[in-house]
Amino acid sequence: ATPTALIVGSGKGAENGILIRKGEAIQTLKDVNTILLDKTGTLTEGKMSVTDIKPTKQNTKQKLLSYAATAETRSEHTIARAITEKAKQQNIEIQEPDDFQVIKGKGVIATKNNKKITVGNRTLIKEQTDNQPQETEETLQKLENQGKTGILIAIDNEVIGVIAIYDKLKPDAKKTLQNLKQKGYKLKMITGDNKRTAKAIAREAGINQVHAEVMPDEKASEVQKLQKQTKGKIAMVGDGINDAPALAQADIGIAIGTGTDIAIESADIVLIKGQLQGIQKAIKLSQKTFQKIK
Ligand code: ADP
Ligand code: MG
Repeated sequence: ATPTALIVGSGKGAENGILIRKGEAIQTLKDVNTILLDKTGTLTEGKMSVTDIKPTKQNTKQKLLSYAATAETRSEHTIARAITEKAKQQNIEIQEPDDFQVIKGKGVIATKNNKKITVGNRTLIKEQTDNQPQETEETLQKLENQGKTGILIAIDNEVIGVIAIYDKLKPDAKKTLQNLKQKGYKLKMITGDNKRTAKAIAREAGINQVHAEVMPDEKASEVQKLQKQTKGKIAMVGDGINDAPALAQADIGIAIGTGTDIAIESADIVLIKGQLQGIQKAIKLSQKTFQKIK
């Protein structure tokens, strides 16, 4: 590529809210045939809100929300913020935990007045308590089939209920993905969220392939595996700290501009406005730029 073409390409990109951080990206992009997309904050808006509070029969909504918020008050995860926000709205007191620990990709564990509060997914509950009752498992599955993320709350050994969180698809997600599929791109979702929720959201977005329950440090190795299996180049689109190694590993890393700094620093291309349409625009830009050179 001549430098001039690249500069022209980059200039056009900036007009469209596409920041090209590495010049080669525009060249590689035209050879991409598989696009991996993170779920939360990439396909979805990343604005989580609590939709359901489902205590077990022996417990109340207020107790459930209060313990959950106390455990989550020091976490910066979007799930934690949704839970504490809901507690504040309902004037439920949020106490400072005596001890607090993040279990990456799973949830949090806090201690308050010698009680252990566990807030997180099935895996965490399985690790921290003897058992999850049938009652909450059924509630959880029902919520997950609606595309919601169900968070389990336990005090010491007892699961006291489920809180559901929902995060909408971005308004341009369906249309963009449909267009990309029509052009022959293979689309895959990659997420730390559970399989049922991931599938429900993927269905809504029009994505057939889902890699769910991927631990934060496994995203990059998933990209690497796929690179070995696939002939064409692989683009990864993501926004989170978890996505940074995968963005660096992919042939093209595309960061969502509203995402974390570390994701942006690991990416070749940044979609400044966070709109998924930018993927299509960047590909077009790449194709046009290299047509001109030929
Ligand atoms: P994602 O890939 O969707 O950004 P993470 O890897 O951060 O998700 O987390 C994976 C899963 O772990 C979440 O879907 C949730 O079930 C659980 N989890 C993570 N952090 C928390 C938290 N602070 N509170 C409750 N659950 C959490
Ligand atoms: Mg994300």
